[in-house]
Amino acid sequence: MSENWGPCKACKWWQIEPDASVHDHTIGYCIDELIQPFQLRIAGNGGCNRFEAGKPARAAGSSECPPAAAPQR
Ligand code: SF4
Repeated sequence: MSENWGPCKACKWWQIEPDASVHDHTIGYCIDELIQPFQLRIAGNGGCNRFEAGKPARAAGSSECPPAAAPQR
């Protein structure tokens, strides 16, 4: 496993609804530029090795199927 792996809930590329809490089961949208084309909708306890520590971005529509929010970063 990569040393860079981390959970979405602590990643700067995770984008959630404006009023959502940061929890394992909160649904968000991955806005990492290489993953964006896949419109990956993922919970806070998901993760990958594109992880970068930070606070989530926020935008309305981030939890929809598929995500309807524009990436904020
Ligand atoms: S899938 Fe990876 S890059 Fe995207 S929010 Fe989760 S940890 Fe970050």
